[in-house]
Order: sequence, then C-alpha cells, then structure tokens
Amino acid sequence: MKLNRSVNSALVACALAAAFWGMFSTPRARTVEAADDTLVFEHAKIYPSPTEPPIKDGVIVVRGGKIVAVGEFGKVEIPRPATVHNLLGFFITAGFQNSHVHFEPGKWNDAEHQPAADLEKHIEAMLTRYGVTTAVDLGSDLRNTLPIRNRIASGEVKGPRILTAGGPLFPPDGVPYYVRDRVPPEILKFMAQPATPEAAVQAVDYDLDNGADLIKLFTGSLVGHEKVKPMPQDVATAAVAEAHKRGKLVFSHPSNIEGLTIAMNAGVDVLAHTTPLSGGWDDALIKQMLAHHMAVIPTLQLWISEAKAGGDTDADALQFAEVGAKELGAYSRAGGQVLFGTDVGYQDDFSPEKEYELMGDAGLTPMQILASLTTASAERFGEANWRGRIATGMDADLVVLAMDPQPDVKGFVPDPKQNARNFANVCEVYRAGRQIGHYHGITNSGGLQACVWQW
Ligand SMILES: [Zn+2]
Repeated sequence: MKLNRSVNSALVACALAAAFWGMFSTPRARTVEAADDTLVFEHAKIYPSPTEPPIKDGVIVVRGGKIVAVGEFGKVEIPRPATVHNLLGFFITAGFQNSHVHFEPGKWNDAEHQPAADLEKHIEAMLTRYGVTTAVDLGSDLRNTLPIRNRIASGEVKGPRILTAGGPLFPPDGVPYYVRDRVPPEILKFMAQPATPEAAVQAVDYDLDNGADLIKLFTGSLVGHEKVKPMPQDVATAAVAEAHKRGKLVFSHPSNIEGLTIAMNAGVDVLAHTTPLSGGWDDALIKQMLAHHMAVIPTLQLWISEAKAGGDTDADALQFAEVGAKELGAYSRAGGQVLFGTDVGYQDDFSPEKEYELMGDAGLTPMQILASLTTASAERFGEANWRGRIATGMDADLVVLAMDPQPDVKGFVPDPKQNARNFANVCEVYRAGRQIGHYHGITNSGGLQACVWQW
C-alpha cells in the first residue's frame, strides 16, 4: 500500500510538473521505492569500479539493500515482481565517500530533537545532493553528530552513513584561530589539548568511549596567521598507538611540513589536507609518505576560499590552490592513495564542482577521481569487501549521474575539466538500496544535461 501511495503521488507530482516545467524539462518518476524489496536499474551506462570497463547498457538488481546481480542488459535475468527503474541516458557509479566534512554548531544544534524533515533538508543540501553515501566528520560536537548518525542509521532520517572523529586533539594551547573565533567559550574549554602521552591516551579513549569512529589530530595547528604550533611528537605517537590498539584510523591536520612529518612519524593513516603553505612536496618527502602508507585528502577548493578570506585576489587564491594541486598530482603519480574530501561544513560552499575540476587539473583521470570517491576510501576503512564497487554482494550504494564522467565518443576530444565536473552533476542517490535523495527537474542545453534539485 505504501508503494501505491508513493507511485500515485509521484504521478500527480509529475503531471503538475509537466505543466509547470514546460519545454525544458523531462518529467519522469524520480521517487523510487522497491516493491517486494527488489529494485532493478536498467539501461544506464554503469561504471562498476574505476578499474573495470563500463557496461554501456547495464542492469543492476538490488534486493535487501545488497546488489544481487549486475551485467549487460539481456544477459542478466530480471526478477518478477520488481520495481524497474529505467535510467536510459544516465550513468551509475558506486556511492561516494566525502572523507572530510564537519557538523559545526549552528543548523545542527539539538540534532536529537530537530524534526526529521529539517535535518534531512540540511543533510541533503550539504551531502546527499552530491552523491555522498558515506561522510567522514573530522571534528564536531558529538552531542549533535551522534544523534544525526543514529537517526540516519535507524532509517528515521534519510542520509549517508556517518563516521565521526568527535572532538579533535590539539597541541597544548593550540586551538586554531579559526576555531577559537567560531566556537563558544563554554565548548572551547573542553577541547582536548594534551601536553603528555598519558593525557593523549586519555583524550583518545574519551572520544572512542563516547562513540567516535576515528581520531583526528592537529599535528600542526594554525594558531595565528601563518603561525603553526606543532603537536609534541610523543603526544602524537601515543595518541596514534592508542587509536590503533582500538582498531581505529587516525587523521591529521598538518598545516605545514613539520606537522606532516610529526603525523608521519606518529603513524597517522590519513592526511586531512595538502599543505600549500609549505610550498610543495619534494621527492624525498613523497617517498617517506609512501613508505608510511599515508592517504591524502587534497581539499584544493578550500585553499581558494581560505586565501580569499585572507584578502587574496582571485588569481592569487587560485595560485595558492595550485600549490596544493601540485602536491596532489605528485603524490598520485608516485602511487600514493588519494581520498576525496572538501572540508564542507567548515567550508560554506557545498558544491564539490571546483574540487573535481582542480583534481582534474592536477592530472588525475576521471577514474582516479572515482577511486578517491569509492574504492580507495572503502579500502582505507577496511570495508572494501562490502562497499565501494558495483558488484554482487556489495551494499547497494549508488549514484546516478546526468553526464558521463568518461565519455567515449569517436573523434571527440574529451575535456578533462568538464569530465571531472560531471561527478558533481548528481541526479539520484541510493544508500543500501534505499533512495536517499533525488533531483526535481532536468535541464538540457546543447547536449549538456543537468539535474536540478531545487526547482
Ligand atoms: Zn576540516
């Protein structure tokens, strides 16, 4: 019955929409719920993973939140009964992970009691709308983040799976100036700034005992304009050892080469940023980072907005971001692992379009960008056996795109920037087989199709 109601309301919505949108929109049933728990996607071009060839006219069968079959149309048996979703002209990849987000005070306050619809709207605007099915929060107030995580996990609120670092660990007297400026004093005094290895272990245990999924360290903290305070090496080392003992990953905010080196020597798993402030990474440093199996989150778009906030012109800001892009390009070419992340939540511009473009500029291919969004992040979190690819047995975390991130048209020279930007042109998002977000209209001009979420 629930299904009929949803189909009917979708049809009514479509009828109204058809009249309203007129010529520049293709109305179609976008709200999708599975009948008898079986959902079939057909006729889309499917990218099963960054290393496998795409399936031009593909079928994905989803049951119980898992992918039970994938292959070419005509070669995969389509079960009956099932809800069949025709996606001719669209493109499907595995769901995206944004490995650097924040739930900062403000609209997330009192997340436990916020109406589900309000929370859903905020989550959609910041994450779901851009294809995020796993979000890694690198520092927030657990009193807000845990209710968000739990209300999504229970199915009450639609959204991505959330993993959180809780409160980060800072150097002694080392809360960054931009955090000091944004956080109320009563919260500021509870921020962990351990001065000894024992205090670091306590701070890690506090976070993990209170529900954090990972640990974030400021191994280099920007305490003033271009003034970086390092975390004592023994403090960082003790924090990482304790987190690893408890089976958790550690992320680090480095700020500069010193902060990066402290992180590396401590055994940190993931660098939360590149370090354009330090002017670039040489081959010797990259070699060391590789030997330490570090993953890197570029956050290139962030460097533009930070530089502009500091008074830089557009051109200077872009130049600053390009230093980060060079670091990313060099690390990627050397075989280093890259995880996608934008610092959204701290950064007010939610769209990752510029980040994709800068990653493309840095020399990453569309499939390398897809890896940073899917397989690399699943692998880093030890979850590659159940997510990150479109394959039988995997969670049905899926993103439907309006444009092909890697077009294959004879005689057509692809524009790497445009292809990279296509990852931001999201139409529908599924987490474990459930639709958690969808577009409201579609525009088409000169062959460029775009999904629009707020019509
Ligand atoms: Zn951040």
